[in-house]
This record gives sequence, C-alpha cells and structure tokens, in this order.
Amino acid sequence: MAKKYVYFFGGGKADGNESMKDLLGGKGANLAEMAGHPKLRLPVPPGFTITTEVCNYFLNNNQTYPKDLKPQVDKALQQVEKLLGKKFGDPKNPLLVSVRSGARKSMPGMMETVLNVGLNDVTIQGLIESTQNPRFAYDAYRRLIMMYSDVVMEKAAGIEPKGGKGIRKILDERLDELKAQKGYSSDTDLNVDDLKFLVEEFKRIVQDVLGKPFPLDPHEQLWGGIGAVFLSWNGKRAVEYRRIEKIPDDWGTAVNVQAMVFGNMGNDSATGVAFSRNPGNGENQFYGEYLVNAQGEDVVAGIRTPAPINEYSKNDQSRHLPTLEETMPEIYKQLNDVRIRLEKHYRDMQDIEFTIEKGKLYVLQCRVGKRNGVAAVRMAVDMYNESLIDAKTAVNRVAPGQLVELLLPMIDPKAEKSTAPIAKGLPAGPGGARGRVVFTSQDAVEWASRGEKVILVREETSPEDVDGMHKAQAILTSKGGMTSHAALVARGWGKCCIVGCSDIEIQTDGKSFITKKGLVIKEGDWISLNGTKGLVYQGSLPLVDVDLEHNTYYKEFMKIVDSLRVLKIRTNADTPKDAKKAIEFGAEGIGLFRTEHMFYGEGSDKPLFLLRKMIMSRSEEERRTALNELFPYVKNDVKATLEVMDGRPVTIRLLDPPLHEFVPHSEDKIQALAVELGVSIDEIQKRADALRENNPMLGHRGVRLGITYPEITEMQIRAILEAAAELIKEGKKAEPEIMIPVTCTVSELTHQKAIFDRVYAEVCSKFGLQKINCLYGTMIEIPRAALTAGRMAEVAEFFSFGTNDLTQMGFGFSRDDIGTFLPDYLNLKILSNDPFQTIDQEGIGELIQLGIQRGRATRPKLKVGICGEHGGDPESVKFCHRVGMDYVSCSPFRVPIARLAAAQAAIEGKPKAELTKAKSRKGVAKKLKRKK
Ligand code: PEP
Ligand code: MG
Repeated sequence: MAKKYVYFFGGGKADGNESMKDLLGGKGANLAEMAGHPKLRLPVPPGFTITTEVCNYFLNNNQTYPKDLKPQVDKALQQVEKLLGKKFGDPKNPLLVSVRSGARKSMPGMMETVLNVGLNDVTIQGLIESTQNPRFAYDAYRRLIMMYSDVVMEKAAGIEPKGGKGIRKILDERLDELKAQKGYSSDTDLNVDDLKFLVEEFKRIVQDVLGKPFPLDPHEQLWGGIGAVFLSWNGKRAVEYRRIEKIPDDWGTAVNVQAMVFGNMGNDSATGVAFSRNPGNGENQFYGEYLVNAQGEDVVAGIRTPAPINEYSKNDQSRHLPTLEETMPEIYKQLNDVRIRLEKHYRDMQDIEFTIEKGKLYVLQCRVGKRNGVAAVRMAVDMYNESLIDAKTAVNRVAPGQLVELLLPMIDPKAEKSTAPIAKGLPAGPGGARGRVVFTSQDAVEWASRGEKVILVREETSPEDVDGMHKAQAILTSKGGMTSHAALVARGWGKCCIVGCSDIEIQTDGKSFITKKGLVIKEGDWISLNGTKGLVYQGSLPLVDVDLEHNTYYKEFMKIVDSLRVLKIRTNADTPKDAKKAIEFGAEGIGLFRTEHMFYGEGSDKPLFLLRKMIMSRSEEERRTALNELFPYVKNDVKATLEVMDGRPVTIRLLDPPLHEFVPHSEDKIQALAVELGVSIDEIQKRADALRENNPMLGHRGVRLGITYPEITEMQIRAILEAAAELIKEGKKAEPEIMIPVTCTVSELTHQKAIFDRVYAEVCSKFGLQKINCLYGTMIEIPRAALTAGRMAEVAEFFSFGTNDLTQMGFGFSRDDIGTFLPDYLNLKILSNDPFQTIDQEGIGELIQLGIQRGRATRPKLKVGICGEHGGDPESVKFCHRVGMDYVSCSPFRVPIARLAAAQAAIEGKPKAELTKAKSRKGVAKKLKRKK
C-alpha cells in the first residue's frame, strides 16, 4: 500500500489526531483533533494536511515530491469539494483554499502563507455570483496576486529583488498611488472598478518585474503554494528562529490546505482571536478581540482597533466599541461553548482563531496559549483545583524562568515593546530598574543619599564598589562575565544587573558612555535596564511591582512544587538579612556563607582595619594579636546568621580570596595602619608589594592561607564553634558546617582537620558541652580535587561543588574576563551556553559526577551540594538532581526558581527520584489533599 502523505479533516471526521504533531505539525494535528474527535467535532473548515515527511523529501530531492503524493492530494481535495458542494477551479461555484505552514512547534510568522488560492479571471465570476459581492471578490483576487507573487514567484524562486524592493512593496506602492490619485484615505474606499483595475495592473507589473505571468491555473497555484511553504522552512527567518529556539532542522513543516472562509463578507462576518483564560493575569475569564468585516491579516496589521468579544475584554482603546456578545449574541454563545469544550479537552488554556462568515462560526486554529509568569502560576493552581490537571502537570506548566516575573519588579512590557534598546549585554541580575547614570561608587552613595535613583555604570566592579552597588538601583558593566564580581554580588541581592555590555564604552573623562551607534549618555541622564534580557534603554521607562506576601496563587503553587521535590534547596547568604529573605523564599539552609563578606560595605570599617592589620603583620605574634582582635567580629557575624537560620544547616566557608584584595590603597588608610603597627608608610607599601601576585586566582588563596598561617584557620574555626556553643547555651539551635575552600589534595584537608579537632575539643570543654553538631568538609572547585574525591572523602564529611572555580579551572577560562570572547564563542556555536551560567554537563559535569561517585565510594553517606552560581540555573539544578546531589545552593532570589526546577527534575524521574520514589509518592498524597 502506498505510504500515507495526506491527512484529511472535516465534516466530523479526521484521518489524524492531536498525538500526531511530529507528522502533521501542531496546527495540522490540532485541526484534525478539533474536526474529528467525537467530543469536539467543531466547525472547522474542511481541508487536509501534507505531512512533514513530504517536506523533508521535497527539500532533499531537488524540490520533487514522492510519486504517491499527487493522487492523495487530489483525493483529499475531492473530499473537501464534496463536503462543501463546491469545486476547485469551478467557474460557477469555486472552492478557494488557504495554504499554510505548521511545524511541530509553533514558529509564529516565520514561514509563508498563501490565501485565496483557486481564484482567477474565470472563477471570480462564480465567486461574485455566489456571494453577490463583487467588491469582496476583486479584493480577494488582488490580495491573492500580491501574496502569491511575493511568496511563490519571488521568494520561493530565490529571486533577489532589484534595488532591494520586492514585488509586494512595488504592488503596495501602486495601490497607494491609486488611492492618492483618487483622494482615498483607506483601503475600504476602493470600489469595484478600482479593484478590477488593480487586478489587471498587478498582473501586468508581475509579468514586467518577475518576467513570468501570474498563473491562472488553480492547480498550478495550489502546487506553487505548497512548494513555497515547504521552501519557507529554509527561509532566513525560519532558520534563525530555529537556532534561537533550538528546533532541529530536520523536523520540517507540514502544509495545511484548507477551505477558505471569509470574515470580510459584510457586517454579518468577522474574524478574531480569543483565549480561553486571560493570558495576562490568568483569570478564568474568556478574553479576546474581533473585527467585523475583516480578514485575519487586518487584525495583525493593526490598522483598525479590534473590538472586545465581551465586557471583560474591554481595554482603554476598545472601551467604546460594541462587543461580540452584544452584536452577535448567538455566535458568542457558540464561541464560548467552543472555549469550554476545548479547554476541557486539552486541559490547558487555548488560543483560538475564529472567523464568522455570513453569520456562521468557524474555528480556524487552536493551540496552547502563550502566557506570562503571573498568569502561568494562577492557571496552574486554578486548573489543579478544578481537577483539570494533576500536581505534576501543574508544576510543569510554569517554566522556572517565568517565576522570576513574580519575584522582581520589571519594566512595563508595554513600554518596552514600543522602545528600542540602545545596548545589549549579559543578563546577570534579572528584573527591571531605572535611574540616573553615575560612574563611581562614591557618586552612587552620594546621589542616593540625596534621594536620587541611580544606576552605577562601570567597566567592572571590585569589592571596594559594594557600597555604591548596594545603593544603586542597578549595575551596568561594560566588561566581565556571568560570574564576575558585579554579577555575583547583584544576584545575591536580587538586584538588576547587566554585565559584559560591550555595546557601550565608558569615555576617558569617566563622565559619559557612548553606545555602538554613537549615542552619548552623560552622568545624570536616565536609563532603564531589563536585567532579565540584558537590554539597556535610554530614558526612564515605567516599572511594574510585585507583592509575594499577598500572592496566594504563588504560595499555593509552591506548596504543590515542594510536595514533589526531592532535592533540598539552600541559599548563598552572608548576612542575617539575606538569610531571613532566603527563608521567606523557602531556603532550607545556607550552602555558602562567605566569611569575607564582613569586610565589605556598611559596618565593615573596623573588621576590615583589623584584617588589614593581620595581613600586614610580619610575625606570628603580631598576626595572633590582630586575629584575637578580629575574633569577636567573626564570631558575632557568624552567630547572627546561625541564629536566624534556627537549626537549619549553615555551611561557613573559611577565608577564600587572595589577601592582596584587602590591601588598602587610600593614603589615610595606609597611614592609619602604619600608626597601628608602629611602622613607616614605606614599610606598609613594601609589605603590600610583597603580597602582589601575577595570577591571584591561582595564587595564595583559600586553604593555602590556612596552610601558611594556621592561626588564621584556628581563629575562624574557634569563632564558628563558639558562636554555635553560645547559641546552644542560650537554648537555641545551631548547625554549622565548616568548609575549606580551594583544596586540591587530601593532605590539605588532613592538615586543617587537626586544627579543627583540637579547637573543637577546646570549645566543647570551655562551654561544658558534650558535642556541637558541626560537619567538616570541603569545596570541590579544582579539577584535581574532583578526580581525587575518593581520597578527599576520607577526611571530608561533605562536598560542596564550587562550580564557578571548577568551570574556570576546568575550561581554563578566566571567570572575570570571559565577557571579551564569550559572545564570539556563542555566535559561532563553539559553545552553546555560557558555561558560567549553565553547567557544562559534558566536561565539568563529568568531573562532578566522578567526584560524587568516588567520594561516595569512600563515604557512602557523604553529603553533596553545589554552591557555585549554577545552583540557581534551572537546567543545572536538574542536572544536580540527576547526579544525586543532596542540595543546591543559590542566591536568595533564585530559591523559588531552584525549588521549581528541582520539582520538575523529580517529575522527569531520573536516578535521584528513583531512589526516593516511594517516599515522594507517599509525601505527595499526604501533603496535598485535593480540594474538590
Ligand atoms: C565557586 O568557586 O563556585 C564558589 C562558590 O566560590 P567563589 O565564587 O567565592 O569563588
Ligand atoms: Mg571558588
């Protein structure tokens, strides 16, 4: 039997169904489902779908078709003719068809369409007769010539328009010329004679410009249209869209040939688009727009303001217009019935295209409707409560990235739509912000203290900028990558931030920047940032705010999420304030407390001074004196956060950065230090010079400091354990975990563990405690540490993968300089993602997996987590789940996103979920008593 290439639909029957999207494309599969499913049988204009297989055949075989195709198309066309009592090419009662694309995944507007196929000098007479509307018929004819000559005769034929002006534009100009000549202001002013004249004019111009006549044979038109749609799969727009959306090239598109219905046949005709629920806020309300006496393309072209389908859909522009419910109440009732049936059937919000032809409703298309984050959450919860979907489906209905919209203020999407960005960088901190440009941290602080909203613009930031960064509404840097200082800090605060924005260049005067297009933005000028997309705008765009506290839908949704999640979610937080925020967002512990935080920003003067004193000390004795003075600051800092975390685990990392980062630069600071240490300024300078390194990221940092200066380790461990002991004594809970950074051999861990053991015993005895719950572990952030994880786990009770450094050292890419070459790597597809943003599963991921396997081979109960920036990236979170980590840790604002990604990973059902399946199933049943 011949292979089936053509699938008919219509008249309550269909060869295909919804499950055949791969073969019929999304549109074709849904048309089949709507037309043929016994529970739907909606008024779909009949037609047929030519499969995606034919597309691939056509494109791979020199634009030819399989030999069985033509008879199948002829047969399907006859079925359509029979149903409608019309005939394709018939001079008396002609059938007209549309030819449209339809890929597996919707690619809106990326491929071609031809409408009104089958119309020619003869069939038009039949159309006039059957409609009694010559104006409509000639309008349809001139539209066909315009579309056909553009799509089939020019684009599909690969003709490059002369002087860049395509046939469509030329015909458009001719139409405008006629309008001007006649003094018309709108297309609707054109009368029958004008349109008749235009049809002839268009045919003449097509012949002149393209050297070929417009084909009058309806079958030639049909096959021309089919070929053009298949070819448009490889059109520039479509290819580019596929690259962005990661749609494989070999999917191909289907072609849908469908009987035309007309919404422009008079005032009893209309066309429109409706959503089964409001896609803007998720409310369970029918929402849509329509235009009387119009074709679909008129709605898209935005020439006329569409009217609301009902009272609910009114907006400021359409408030005065009559609703469909008022003008055609019967049709509205039918449409509402379609809405209810479709939603019940698909169990999701539907986007429905409809046409009313002479008082009869047709459904042209339905698909799952796009929605924003707020609407996605609300719809998921509502549909779950309506028993339309189960918990897993509800959780999968919201993309982790969509949750961001609920957590941070954003630039008003309406304002953004009508404004062109002036620059684009890497989206380091999501959300929106607006403010006046300043170029130094001091200015940011000063301006902000006067009540100004500022955006700090720098080439890159350093720890000395944190005050200004904190006071700024947002941060914009022209250099740096996704784990640069600015990105890390901003993300931690949930602050809007764009880094590596090489489209801007800060001028040497430090008072302005210039964009690639030569626009100069001066200090004090307003700019707005979209940190979610990395876009910079000139001026002050309005923001829309969020309110989680009162967002019951969000809270309910997260309950469902947590009932399915297996992976624990911790946060990277260094202050009680951040810790509190993270708990509100659902954090179950701290996965990274960076001790050095206390030496930056507000209130850091004294501890920083003491740290500098310690760094500049020459002898152990001098150093010990400084450390003793520093001790209470460290203890109190740790204690405050442990207290807020109230028994949740807190991983405290010992001092990590290279010491030279803390060396003072300003004269007064150097002077003060010289006085304190009783040495000359020159001596301070000399000691500072001695600390300078060529390659500080690979230099004297992390555990290496603790090896050369064990007293630094000792002081920190004592401070942590005493903080915990004091809390225990106060009847409170404390669960510190001490983490050694930048380790590469077990010997380092053994060396530091001896200090830990000694101090532990001393603190227990000092406080009269039997024990303090405290784990001893390490970061795994050097490839060697991952490879020797089996040995590392002999001493470490937990691992935390520091994937920022592991990526840096695994790739050999500087995390602070990747911004200079990453765009090229991404554009040339040398890398598919920024590896500092999403874990490179192939390479770095392999190191992680190896590390976990080898570590757990030594210590089966080894606790494993991640604390690099990847802990908040949904794809990476899913990876962490799959490789069996116990937790991920991310900045407070990303905690909800990580919770959702972890739940989705559990639903995907990979290894970790297998291990805990029984538990999770019981958990869901217990935690969720469905409201019925
Ligand atoms: C890491 O390297 O992944 C990490 C968390 O540490 P830091 O970013 O502080 O180097
Ligand atoms: Mg690190």
